[in-house]
Amino acid sequence: MEAKKRIFSGMRPTGRLHLGNYLGALQNWVRLQDEYDCIYAVVDWHALTTGYEDTSQIRDNVREMVLDWLAAGLDPERSVLMVQSHVKQHAELHLLLSMVTPLGWVERVPTYKEQLRELAGREIATYGFLGYPVLQAADILAYKAQYVPVGEDQVPHVELTREIARRFNHYFGPVLPEPEVLLAQVKVLPGIDGRKMSKSYGNEIPMTASPEEIQRQVLNMVTDPARIRRHDPGHPDVCVAHVFYQAIASEMAGTVAEECKNAAVGCVECKKRLAGLVEEFIAPLRERRERYASQPGLVREILDDGANRARKLAEATLQEVREAMRLW
Ligand code: SF4
Repeated sequence: MEAKKRIFSGMRPTGRLHLGNYLGALQNWVRLQDEYDCIYAVVDWHALTTGYEDTSQIRDNVREMVLDWLAAGLDPERSVLMVQSHVKQHAELHLLLSMVTPLGWVERVPTYKEQLRELAGREIATYGFLGYPVLQAADILAYKAQYVPVGEDQVPHVELTREIARRFNHYFGPVLPEPEVLLAQVKVLPGIDGRKMSKSYGNEIPMTASPEEIQRQVLNMVTDPARIRRHDPGHPDVCVAHVFYQAIASEMAGTVAEECKNAAVGCVECKKRLAGLVEEFIAPLRERRERYASQPGLVREILDDGANRARKLAEATLQEVREAMRLW
């Protein structure tokens, strides 16, 4: 039987995930487990590149996020679930790759300049932040991953990884395979106020929200601002609630849109029904999370096992890399 192709993907430890994270990335990760040999990493060193001043939450954030991974259906038996900093080979490969990576390559990565602008006021003009695309390349190449599942915005990073691998191979021989992009069909879910869903805006619905959180957030969703009275016809295309219907109960979205346009339903009633659907969608995720969370030490055990498995794979690559570079 042909060996499964390998995938590597990482997520920064941001703590509990929201529904946007679930529909935008995690659900796809869960599906990929059927077809690929998957390595999923909590990339905690990457979190330091933009948030090194305060690391007080980082451990909790790792645990909370991994619980959400498990709740979503990532399976530690089938996939390697690990923390980047537990596998030191990532750091070694990052160092070695940084030797062959021209400065201009990292400076031109679109997200570098964008983030410098966006995070103005935070001191991120650091060596570590400039080098994070090289660290990302090391994460992927350490496992000789064939594919990297990403959204459009991350494609330049994978392209840079390919260029770094090519340059390494040019000097030292064909050791590092160039990974390919596996474009994910990303569903973008807005926050309840219509902006990007983000914890920093307080507009998120947690992936494993409690029934009370669901009620509160759904009933506060921004609807068609032009629909002032109950009998005014609505415009579902400008309503956040309708986007949620499309995302989690697509079979009902058409009917809801008709009822809205004909003023056959009021917004409060429409959102109450949506809250029920969100609850149905979230309940199994929340129950699975509770099952994992109730077993003390389990997350640590899963991550230790993941790190052991990952370390073996990464060390095999590093041995080839050291040999190719004639290091002792
Ligand atoms: S009826 Fe429903 S879809 Fe239409 S504006 Fe109100 S909440 Fe949105």
